[in-house]
Order: sequence, then C-alpha cells, then structure tokens
Amino acid sequence: MSEELLHVRTGLAAAGGGYDIHVGGGALSRAGELLASVTPSRRAAIVTDSNVAKLYAGKVREILESAGFSAPVFAFPAGEKSKNLSTLADIYTFLAENELTRADTVVALGGGVPGDTAGFAAATWQRGIRLMQIPTTLLAQVDSSVGGKTAVDLEEGKNLVGAFWQPSLVVCDPDTLVTLDKKNLACGMAEIIKHACIRDAAMFSELETLDLTAVPPAGLIARNIGIKRAVVERDECERGERMLLNFGHTLGHAVEKLSFRLGVTHGHCVAAGMAMITRASERRGLTEKGTSARLEKLLGRAALPTGTDLDIETVLDAVRADKKRSGDDINLVVLERIGSAHVMRMPLVEFRSFMGL
Ligand code: NAD
Repeated sequence: MSEELLHVRTGLAAAGGGYDIHVGGGALSRAGELLASVTPSRRAAIVTDSNVAKLYAGKVREILESAGFSAPVFAFPAGEKSKNLSTLADIYTFLAENELTRADTVVALGGGVPGDTAGFAAATWQRGIRLMQIPTTLLAQVDSSVGGKTAVDLEEGKNLVGAFWQPSLVVCDPDTLVTLDKKNLACGMAEIIKHACIRDAAMFSELETLDLTAVPPAGLIARNIGIKRAVVERDECERGERMLLNFGHTLGHAVEKLSFRLGVTHGHCVAAGMAMITRASERRGLTEKGTSARLEKLLGRAALPTGTDLDIETVLDAVRADKKRSGDDINLVVLERIGSAHVMRMPLVEFRSFMGL
C-alpha cells in the first residue's frame, strides 16, 4: 500500500512545532532515511522489550545503520511489570554507556510499554532528547505512540511518574502486526472502537462489516491516528477535549487495577468499561436508545468483554481510589449517540446510583 503521511501540530518545544507520522506497509524499511531527515546527528539508541527484540530489533538496527546511524539496542523483559523506575535506571545506564547527547535520538521500538518507558527516558535524559516512536502493537499504532504522553508505573499505581514529551517522528508499519497474538490485537481493537464511539459514526458502521479479529487495513489504522491527532492537537496537555479519549476508562481502570495480576489487558478492561458506562447512561436517558446493544455486539465481534465478573461494589471502591478523579468529583465520558461524546462531571457520591445500584 502507499504510505500515508499525517502531520501533528504541537505547541511543545520538544518536537519543534510538530512531527510526522508515516503509516504504511513497509514503512519500517524507510525508518533510517526518515530519521536522517529530522536530525543531523547519526547517533541513536534503540530501546525495546525482549519479545520485540527477537522479532524486529536486528532489522531496525540494520535499517538505521544503513542510513549512517550507530544504533545499539537495549531490551528489557517484556510486559507492564517492566514499566518502572528500575527499567528506567537501566535505560539511563545504557544511554550513558553509549554516550547519547542532547543531539541524539532515543528510538522506542515496540508496544505501549517500550513507548511510554523509553519516551520518559527521552523526556528526562539530559533534560530531554529527541524521540522516535516505532510502534509494533495495534494499541501503540492507533493510540499510545501519538500525543506525547510518557510515563512509568509505581507500586502505588500506573503512570504516576511521567511527562508530556512529543516524538519527533513516528514510523507506523502495519506489517509488524502479523506477529501480534489475538489478545493484543483485540486490545488495540478496543481503542479503535473507542475512537469510533467518541468521534466517527461512519467508522463504527464500517467496523460492523469487518472481521475484527484480523489485522486491520493500513487505511483504518491511519484513520484512527487521524482521530487521535485531531483530539490531541486541540488539547495537548489534557485539560479538556482530550479527556474524551478516556471513554470507558473510569470503570476500565478500576477493573484493570483489580485484575491486572490475572493478565487481563488494558484494552479488555476499557472494553468492559465502555459497555458498562453506556448501559448505565442509556438507562438514564442520556444516550440514544439502542447504542449500548450496537456497542456490545461490536465488542463481542472483536472478542472483547462487555462486563466484568468482579463484584461491582469492589469496582466502585476502586473508582473512588482512582488518581484520575478530581477532588470529590469524577469525570465521566458519556456517549450521546455513536460518534458523539461529552465529559460529564459528577459528584462521586452520585456515581453509585448512576450505575443503577
Ligand atoms: P506492550 O508494549 O506490553 O505490548 C504487548 C505485548 O505484545 C508484549 O508482550 C510485547 O512484547 C508484544 N509485542 C509488541 N509488538 C509485537 C509484535 N509486533 N509482534 C508480537 N508481539 C509483540 O503493551 P501495549 O498493549 O502495546 O501497551 C500498553 C501500555 O501502553 C500500557 O502501559 C498503557 O499504560 C500504555 N498506554 C499509553 C498511552 C499513551 O498515550 N502514552 C495510551 C494508551 C496506553
């Protein structure tokens, strides 16, 4: 397929006013020349995880080297448990050993975990150096590699230490998704369905005709990046509209917190959260009738859950403890209908009855 180019405008100085996202099958092979076009330096450092290292690190290293870069690789053990301060310290050591300076580039290769962790390393190494994202999960391609949020987790909670740090370049090659397992494919599909729910009714209808358990066409990935771009451009630091991207997250985060040790993914929790909140808002007459049935059907076709086996009172307790709530209120993202959403601020004490309890 031909490559699509999306430019993201940004006010943050780190990305020099904006950055390009190249989307297309085979785009990876151009990663070296593309990086060379945004920096005069020929030093880069690839940060990835153990799974992606086996599949793509050698190839990416070769591609960068053939464009004149030195490109050593650091791989940490795959999985969310590595998204922590200890991995971050290991990355700093690797950057020091390879003498990365402020002129050079950190290349985050992999899913959201390498993206967020290497992204935060880039944001803080020598007060911030250039970042290139090469996302290789569907979630990272349509969501986490765009928008500049970087972070690591603490024992106390997810993403508690982080920074807004925009990449200088994103190379998104859907061909890398052929090696992704079904569970992680579904996880990214949850974000695509979320985008359709909040912003794109026509895409929702299109999804109703597609096989949602297969790697999506590159055009669909580009369309989703376009949705995320539109939202983050208007609200770079999440003060307003960007909160819409948290659709399904109030309950989803709570479910995730309670079940992440069971290997339940972020996307599965967000899917459950979207379905649960939409059932409640439809019952209350805030959402057009029939919306929640359509949403549940689509989630089911993507092999995603529409609820949780957890005790709902325990889930609500976890919502109360969520860092994302502001004071005694929570921000709920509610659909008016498919393709249109708004943020509703609600006192925490009312949330229980909103959920029909
Ligand atoms: P991940 O990076 O752990 O990847 C999931 C699994 O897929 C890992 O085991 C990984 O090794 C493997 N993998 C990656 N690419 C592969 C490929 N091409 N083929 C085979 N296996 C591959 O997790 P994720 O789901 O990509 O991202 C989740 C993370 O993203 C969470 O930490 C979440 O907080 C974060 N996130 C960040 C943002 C943001 O805006 N920064 C947005 C959403 C989520």
